[in-house]
Amino acid sequence: MAVPTQSIIETRRVQMFPTLERAEIERVRRFGEARSYGAGEALAKVGEVGAGLSIILAGKVDITQHDEPGRRALIVTHGPGEFMGELAQLAGRPVLVDAYAQGPVEALIIRPDRLRALLVAEAELGERIMRALILRRVGLLETGAGGPVIVGRAENGDVLRLEGFLRRNGHPHQRLNPETDPEAKALIERFHVDPGQLPIVLCPGGQLLRNPGEVELARCIGLVGPIDPNRLYDVVVVGAGPAGLATAVYAGSEGLSVLVLDCRAFGGQAGASARIENYLGFPTGITGIALMARAYNQAQKFGVEMAIPDEVIGLQPASESDTGPFVLQLSNNERVSARSVVIASGARYRRPAVENLEAFESTSVHYWASPLEGKLCSGQEVALVGAGNSAGQAVVYLASQVAKVWLLVRGPSLEASMSRYLVDRIKGLSNVEVLMQAQISGLEGHDGMLEAIRWRQGTSASEVRRPIRHLFLFIGAEPNTNWLSGSGVALDAKGFVLTGADLTGSDRRPLETSRRGVFAIGDVRSSSIKRVAAAVGEGAQVVATLHAFLAAPDHAVIAQR
Ligand SMILES: Cc1cc2nc3c(=O)[nH]c(=O)nc-3n(C[C@H](O)[C@H](O)[C@H](O)COP(=O)(O)OP(=O)(O)OC[C@H]3O[C@@H](n4cnc5c(N)ncnc54)[C@H](O)[C@@H]3O)c2cc1C
Repeated sequence: MAVPTQSIIETRRVQMFPTLERAEIERVRRFGEARSYGAGEALAKVGEVGAGLSIILAGKVDITQHDEPGRRALIVTHGPGEFMGELAQLAGRPVLVDAYAQGPVEALIIRPDRLRALLVAEAELGERIMRALILRRVGLLETGAGGPVIVGRAENGDVLRLEGFLRRNGHPHQRLNPETDPEAKALIERFHVDPGQLPIVLCPGGQLLRNPGEVELARCIGLVGPIDPNRLYDVVVVGAGPAGLATAVYAGSEGLSVLVLDCRAFGGQAGASARIENYLGFPTGITGIALMARAYNQAQKFGVEMAIPDEVIGLQPASESDTGPFVLQLSNNERVSARSVVIASGARYRRPAVENLEAFESTSVHYWASPLEGKLCSGQEVALVGAGNSAGQAVVYLASQVAKVWLLVRGPSLEASMSRYLVDRIKGLSNVEVLMQAQISGLEGHDGMLEAIRWRQGTSASEVRRPIRHLFLFIGAEPNTNWLSGSGVALDAKGFVLTGADLTGSDRRPLETSRRGVFAIGDVRSSSIKRVAAAVGEGAQVVATLHAFLAAPDHAVIAQR
């Protein structure tokens, strides 16, 4: 018998919609201002930036969502002691639901900056409110309500790109099939859209975008807005992966003004991990996106500003001074000023040029071989691509766990790139077959699960196909450091950022780059450990160094808050 799936509103209703005690409301009065609304008046409208979190003092407010274009469905009716708001109110972004007064309503309106102050000042109450805000967002993500509507076929590459972007940024959305959904057909007719212009996106504010880029979509739905060019931040963090978010949380909680920029989504590589099993404190594992969403919300609670997606393309000192401030140039021609900069732009694992690799990345493609992967592939055949020492170590380990390892090497010999002892060890393993001058030519599978791998060897025109469900890639990582060209930040031979004692003959602080006041953490840093926990540790560690730098007497720039 099929188990009926329950919505979060059914399973977590009490936590989603708590009622505050009279004494609690009195305590938080100082964070807000009372306002009156007439019957039928809007407290909030989808797509508009709302006034803030609204605690209902008297009267009733209907919260509705757009579950289909043009149709409103009631989510809940708030009465006295209940509050209206979700994560958008924490960041001051456009509202995802409508809120209308049933009759006369008195409400305490708490602006986003005051809400953040409340969450920090009122630990227990703050925890209850924060949990409700997060659960309400999860509820909206379940239905897709309040976000943009994408019209296009599920398998279309641009639809996948736009859906992936919204999902990674924790933003609700709906998708309509242009061939089968009457609402989709109505939109296509109304806006005179040719089939070649699909997908289209209808934003909550009513604007129509034709196959937009991520930045265009983000601007339309209010995910990212213009940055104040006159503001001088204590620290600007480039990259919202685990390293950047850790810096944001610690620097924000310690009173520094922080802006985090990321060109794609929060979470970085970790956000793409289907399950992180080795992060301290999560014995049953946690999906990368869940872990990173917590960090993202936590940083915003401490007043950190986020500009995502916004790409940094250059870093320069604002003046002749060696100690900053700095100017960061963005790809949209905006500029950001900072007293100090933390480079947390991470790295990308190199990927072979195989057409549909991305479709299998979360479950069947692995970038390292730990006991976890060993267990996952136990008794099966696996393929591994690479010829360096990390590839060699992975082959030796996997051979002890799996039925067979097919090692695909692009070049003519292993000796050129792998240590002798590993080459010898691999030769002695009966369940490893080394294929020289071999390259993957195709991947087959369904629903993200690999079912077969095809490859070609040498000049042979014939293709080999094997039923293999796990592919290991050890062909190196490339740092995201192109944007540092001309910045004076020293890089190692592979393009990773040099810091501290690795900079010969310098007196730099730990994690400080060759430019005073510019720091590097996480995967982008030369000789760092490429793990979530290591990135988070460096993100926390750098904050102490930032304080020391900002407090130094030779760095007497007054921050404008
Ligand atoms: C599929 C996968 C699964 C993984 N699973 C695990 C695991 O289970 N356990 C584990 O410990 N590690 C895991 N890792 C490794 C781990 O995710 C990384 O070590 C970690 O994410 C590094 O964090 P980071 O913040 O330094 O960099 P990243 O996570 O790479 O984040 C860097 C961020 O910077 C942004 N950025 C880059 N250039 C710019 C620019 N010019 N302007 C603005 N933004 C920019 C990027 O968009 C990105 O969001 C996994 C990696 C992958 C790819």
